[in-house]
Amino acid sequence: MNRAGKKMIEQWVTPIGEGIWQIELPQMESQTANVFLIEDETLTLIDSGPPYDNCLEVLHEGLRFLGYKWADIDLLILTHPHIDHIGGAAFLPDPPQVYAYQETMAEIGSYDQYIDRWMKLPHLLASEYPDLRGIFLSQLSLDWFEGFFPRGGSLQITRELVDEERISLGKRELEVIYTPGHSMKHVGLLLKQEKLFFSGDYMLQRGPALTRLMGDQVDAFVQSIKRVEQLDIDRVLPSHGHPFSFETGLQKVAELVSRQEEKLKRVLSDSPKTAIDLFIAYFGMKNASLERVGIEFTGVDTFIKHLLKDEMIKQEGLHYFLND
Ligand SMILES: [Zn+2]
Repeated sequence: MNRAGKKMIEQWVTPIGEGIWQIELPQMESQTANVFLIEDETLTLIDSGPPYDNCLEVLHEGLRFLGYKWADIDLLILTHPHIDHIGGAAFLPDPPQVYAYQETMAEIGSYDQYIDRWMKLPHLLASEYPDLRGIFLSQLSLDWFEGFFPRGGSLQITRELVDEERISLGKRELEVIYTPGHSMKHVGLLLKQEKLFFSGDYMLQRGPALTRLMGDQVDAFVQSIKRVEQLDIDRVLPSHGHPFSFETGLQKVAELVSRQEEKLKRVLSDSPKTAIDLFIAYFGMKNASLERVGIEFTGVDTFIKHLLKDEMIKQEGLHYFLND
């Protein structure tokens, strides 16, 4: 983005409650990522946003607008180890204390190895869908992955969290709510007094992608709702998009899996399809920007494999059929 002037930065910073702020970062295209600042004795940031220069600039400007700088942050809590949540901190100097769910250190502690694993995605897809190989491994696609998962960062987790753990920030307390599925190391954070739930990517307006090839699990995602629906929550603060009511959040989670399954089943209802057919029908040619096919298809792959496992569809050679 251009120079983030005062007027402009106001558009990215939204008050959520007394001393609670949302800073929206321009991730890419129409997608944005949120970080949340909680002012207490421990100045706390939830998620650090993506690693790209335009995001870091807005993060700095947003903090400055609120009277702080990056070095003032005492504590960073990560909802889950995805690049658009951890990336900012991985590229900023002198990180604060960083808390994340168990085993996050093993995943991101060696940052470039973490990137290497994500860079395997187009190759994994190419081996599972040979007819799309040329698209997944095209220079356009590989360049996109290189840009989306930049190397050269580093991030150390100073404490690993467990479910139900309470983190005291001073006057306030955040409770850790383990919500696996979108990532198996995903937590939501509950601010009890205010009945606010920082949902990470577990609850999103449009629902998150589930990337089986990186360990995400549809079944765990569905199970997590049993834990979350017990909570006393008014408002959900997602890591992408605008806040919404708890009712809406529960509904979004409940609908996600069936919505994806129905979409694929509908496409297969008139005739068998190849992966290319599925891709075109699923995204529509107009929206299918070629360099993003790989990352988008990881989500379709998750539900193709889920339907195969549940024997709702079957595969013969390169074709997928609806089971009757
Ligand atoms: Zn995510």
